[in-house]
Amino acid sequence: MIFHVVTLFPEMLESPLRESILGRALKQGLIEVESHNLRDWAEGKHLACDDAPYGGGDGMVLKPEPLSRAVTALKHRTPNAKVLLMSPQGVPFGQQHAQRLATEEGIIFLCGRYAGFDERVRATLVDEEFSIGDFVLTGGELPALVMIDAIARHIPGVLGSADSVTSDSFTDGLLEYPQYTRPPVFNGVAVPDVLLSGDHGRINTWRREQQLLRTMLRRPDLLEKADLSADDRRMLEALVSVADRS
Ligand code: SAM
Repeated sequence: MIFHVVTLFPEMLESPLRESILGRALKQGLIEVESHNLRDWAEGKHLACDDAPYGGGDGMVLKPEPLSRAVTALKHRTPNAKVLLMSPQGVPFGQQHAQRLATEEGIIFLCGRYAGFDERVRATLVDEEFSIGDFVLTGGELPALVMIDAIARHIPGVLGSADSVTSDSFTDGLLEYPQYTRPPVFNGVAVPDVLLSGDHGRINTWRREQQLLRTMLRRPDLLEKADLSADDRRMLEALVSVADRS
C-alpha cells in the first residue's frame, strides 16, 4: 500500500511516521508514505498555489490546477489510487472506512490549507471526502496522518498480533472491554477475579458483557447499528434490567 500525501508542508508528515508501529511497517516495506509538495506542480514566477476567493471574503483558496496536475502525476505512478480530500465537510471517518481503505493499492490524500479548496477540486478530482471530526483544523496534514495510522493498522503484518485489531473498539461495532495488567491491586482497585481464574470461557463471557455494558453506557448510538448475536441480545436485556432496577 502506498500513501501519497499532497501538501504545502511536506515536513509535517516526517516524524510521526518514523516512530513505533508505523516506523517498523515502513522499514519492512508493508507501507510506503510519500509526501509531495504541492508547489512542485505550481506554475508562474511565484509558484502560487492559492488565490483570493471570487465574490470576496476572508482567506485564500487553493487553486485547482496544481492539485489537478498532482493527481494526474500520482495516478500515473499508482493508477488505481483512491483520491481522498481532507475536509471538515466530509463524511465522518470511522473504523469501517479504515478497514475498507486498507485493501486499496494506493491512496492520494489532498491536504487543504487556508480557506480550503476551490469547489471544482471536490467536484472533479476526488473519489471521497473525509472529516476527522466536527472541528476545524488549520490544515489537512494531521487528518491525513490520523487516517494513515488508522488504515495501516488493518494492513496484514503491520500489527504484531492480528488479535489486537479484532478486539479493538469499533471493529465489531462495540467499544473494547476494560483491560488490566499487573499489579493485581492498584490504588485500592483490584483486577476482577474472573481475569485471574484461568477459565477462558468465563473470561470471554465477562469481556463480551463488559463490551456491551460499556457501549450501552458510553455510546448507545453504536448499539443501534451493531451486529448483535442472540446471546448478545440476551446479555444486553439482562444488563438493561439490572440498570432499570438500580
Ligand atoms: N473553510 C473550510 C470550511 O469551513 O470547510 C475549512 C478550511 S480549514 C481551515 C483548512 C483545511 O484543513 C481544509 O481544507 C482541510 O483540508 C483541513 N481540515 C480542517 N479541519 C478538518 C477536519 N475536521 N477533517 C479533515 N480535514 C480538515
